[in-house]
This record gives sequence, C-alpha cells and structure tokens, in this order.
Amino acid sequence: GRGIAVFTSGGDSQGMNAAVRAVVRFGIYLGAKVYFIKEGYQGMVDGGENIVEATWSSVSGNLHKGGTIIGSARCKDFRVREGRLKAARNLINRGITNLVVIGGDGSLTGANLFRHEWSSLVDELAEKGVVTAEAKSKYSNLYIVGMVGSIDNDFCGTDMTIGTDSALHRIIESIDAIAATAYSHQRTFIMEVMGRHCGFLALAASLASEADYVFIPEWLPEADWPSRMCKKLSSEREAGQRINIIIVSEGAVDRDGNTITSEMVKDVVVKNLHQDARITVLGHVQRGGGPSAFDRVLACRMGAEAVLALMEAEAETEPCVVSLDGNQVIRLPLMECVKRTQAVSKAMSEQNWDVAVQLRGRSFAR
Ligand code: ADP
Repeated sequence: GRGIAVFTSGGDSQGMNAAVRAVVRFGIYLGAKVYFIKEGYQGMVDGGENIVEATWSSVSGNLHKGGTIIGSARCKDFRVREGRLKAARNLINRGITNLVVIGGDGSLTGANLFRHEWSSLVDELAEKGVVTAEAKSKYSNLYIVGMVGSIDNDFCGTDMTIGTDSALHRIIESIDAIAATAYSHQRTFIMEVMGRHCGFLALAASLASEADYVFIPEWLPEADWPSRMCKKLSSEREAGQRINIIIVSEGAVDRDGNTITSEMVKDVVVKNLHQDARITVLGHVQRGGGPSAFDRVLACRMGAEAVLALMEAEAETEPCVVSLDGNQVIRLPLMECVKRTQAVSKAMSEQNWDVAVQLRGRSFAR
C-alpha cells in the first residue's frame, strides 16, 4: 500500500485529533500504511521516534479531545533546504510519499514548497548514495493534501476551518457566564476575542450573545465611535437592560489604522457613562476544551476526503486543500488558497478593507 503520513503544524485547534483519526482509519481501511509524524515539521526533520506507524486502535478515544495529541511545533529547520533534505530522507526511508498536513497557511506554504522541491531533494539523496536507484524511481513524487486547523476562520477557500465552531462555543459559554455576574451588579463587560486579522469570531459571537457593540477589523468604526457607542449603551440601559456586553476582536482598528484596545473601550465607558466596566481577555481558553459536534463531523469528513484525494493522485497532481463549500466537502488548489489568504492579510495590514473583504469572500469554488 501507499505510505501516508499525517501531522499537525503551527497553532493548534480543537478537532485536529478528529482529523488525524479520520486520516488514520480511512487510510488503513483503504489498505494504506499510515504514519504519525509527531511535533510537526520538527519531527519530520528529526525522524527517529517522531515518525511512527499508526494502528487502528492508536487513535481510539481521541475524537473528543482538544488540542493535538501528536504535538505541533514551529520549526526553523524546515525553512531551509538542508532541513527539508533531512525530512525527505526520513520519509523515503519509511516508504512515505503522501503527506496530510493539518495547519494554517504557513504550514501549507511549507508543504507546497517541499512538494515542488521534492524531485531535486531525491536527486541529491541519490547522488550522495543515501537512496538507491530503485528507491529514486519509486519515490519520485510526493503528494500533498492540506486541511486547515485554525480557530480564526481566516483561510480563503473554506467556509469553516477546523476549530472555529468549537472556539465560538467557548466564547459563548464565557459570555453567558459573565453575563450572569454582570447582571447582578449592572456592569458593562468588554470581551476581547481572538481572530488575528479576521473578525469572524467576534462577529459571530456578538450575534449569538446579544452584544450591544462589536469591533472587528473588517468594519471600521466611525471617527466618533465613542459617542455613538455611549449613546447605544445608555439607550439600552434606559430601556431597562441591566448589563452591556461589548466584543472587541484582537485585530480591530480605527480609521487611522490604530488598534482599538479593550482598555480604550473601557476608558470611554467609564469616563462618559460612569459605569462599572470590566475587561475579560479570553485568550487561550478559546483554543481549549473539546471540539464541538460540528468540528468533529467536519474533521471526519475532511480527513476521509484527504485520503481519497491522495488515493486518486497522479504524477502531475498538484497539492490540494480540503475545504467546506456550503455543506459540501471539496478539494481546491492549495497554493491558490494560500496566496489568496496571504493577499487578504496584506490588504488588511495596508488598510485596503474593500479588497480584503472581496478577496476573502465565501468559497471561490463556484
Ligand atoms: P501556521 O501554519 O499556523 O500558519 P506558521 O506560519 O508558524 O503557522 O508555520 C508553521 C511551520 O510551517 C513553521 O514553523 C515552518 O516550519 C513551516 N513553514 C511556514 N512557512 C514556511 C515556508 N515559507 N517555507 C518552509 N516552511 C515553512
């Protein structure tokens, strides 16, 4: 059978274990040898005990656990050719010519680079006598499929990334918990949520929590946002509401491109309305806990599709990323998605909001 290796890389997210499990089980079911690579690219470069064959039972009881059991890492070695040469050697030694990478755009970029460099890496290993002529012809192609594990939902080409829905659950649970205490004391709470340059978590959380105000990077507040916000908050209080909830995305900015911090928002509330205002920065709580049912099912479907994509790959098949388009799990060209995602980040940092929002869009498969 074909050797398939699965690994998680970059930031972790809930549902990664479910995705790994699906790759292992579906791969074995279809007759492939499946390997785990522990600690992301670092494990691939270091080899040894980091690359182990997976069995059907080795992924039992993993589905509901958060984070990534096989570990993730940032890896400097893989950024240079020398490191990737070591990685290629470790894969060939185990008969692995298929990779499933679960990570963000950085991890997928690295995978794409590896794929395009592969034949020259194999040539170099053959010249050095590290691989035989037979191995050289047998391992001349490397096939890659990516899945996006991220709570930020900031990847172009998929409607949801693995982990986003679970993070939303964490955020909503926290807001509900805080709303109860805020109610008792008639407080205003400012909740800071993650998302980097993407306001999805903040926006969805605000809809799901009856928040009074939300700051996201894609929607610039008016220059006079402090007075608009205060007007809104006090009108809600006058109407009998005992609390106010304000959600601030970590990437939120004003019209001059300056970050809108939770402290700034709190100061406005305290100075103008003399309310008792508190800040809660949710931080890594959002990446914690188990995956939601949605993320478990999404990861199962994506993992199975990833294995199918590898089984169907032919010599010239370019790397693909498995994504969600509406309710369908589909394959899209990996590099096109990555380039688009990076173009969005660039546009956001240059404050080209319209360009960014247009580029991000929904899935561009249609
Ligand atoms: P994410 O995958 O979450 O975006 P990073 O950007 O930190 O996270 O990427 C994870 C790892 O992927 C890096 O530590 C590095 O090993 C590898 N990587 C990222 N970009 C590249 C690149 N351009 N070339 C080679 N490897 C890369």
